[in-house]
Amino acid sequence: MSQTATTPMPVLFISHGSPTLAFDDVPARDFLVRLGAKLPRPKGILCISAHWEAAVPSVTGSETPSTIHDFYGFPQALYDLRYDAPGDPALAARVVVLLEAGGYKPQTSSDRGLDHGVWSPLILAYPQSGIPVVQLSLMHNRTPADHVALGRLLAPLREEGVLIVASGGAVHNLRALDWNNRTGITEWADVFDQWLGDKIAAGDLDALSDYRAQAPNATAAHPSEDHIMPLFVALGAAAGKDATAPGKQLHRSFTFGSLSMSSYGWEA
Ligand code: ZN
Repeated sequence: MSQTATTPMPVLFISHGSPTLAFDDVPARDFLVRLGAKLPRPKGILCISAHWEAAVPSVTGSETPSTIHDFYGFPQALYDLRYDAPGDPALAARVVVLLEAGGYKPQTSSDRGLDHGVWSPLILAYPQSGIPVVQLSLMHNRTPADHVALGRLLAPLREEGVLIVASGGAVHNLRALDWNNRTGITEWADVFDQWLGDKIAAGDLDALSDYRAQAPNATAAHPSEDHIMPLFVALGAAAGKDATAPGKQLHRSFTFGSLSMSSYGWEA
């Protein structure tokens, strides 16, 4: 019997920006609208979002995950949006097996839906695609290196037709947003974003995991670490057993002065 060689699926890190992204006339939206057609069609999508942290790694186990509108004070049209991707309990179970093999005690949530870190980019990249989506949580109070280690355990999924999408923000400081600034770039944010892009291009996992100490303007770029943490899961999934994971910048733009929309991809 001949073996069919399967090209591993890419890994993505997407900066999802404001919840209004689906309605905003910005370059990042256009990038996402075109993204899905450029990639091989996945059998399933495993998404790690900035907006779900749990004590232990947790996955959505529902066959029909709901759309969670986890934000406040936005236009009604945003609350009316639904992303009706099916769930995939078999993929969720596979994630649990992989994480258990790494010594974790993952949990499956049968009633958790998909938060906007998941559906905001996917509704643009994969609208009504029928591709099943499972969400995996971040781990509360764990380090970047811990999340790289978690991501490494997910690498085999790439050989199984699963697209791993980490969704957060390359620069994410909500207090620093300039709501009237639609085109300009705030300098400190630009400098951090450049550093991050350079280290991702080099696949420098050590420097990236130590970004808090090494990167210029790190605490301004990420007062809390929730929006950069998905990046480390992506880096681990891209690296697998390797020491480095060079990635490619797929898109770069800013909204509101300092909110980076930089997104990255890792091919096999
Ligand atoms: Zn967010």
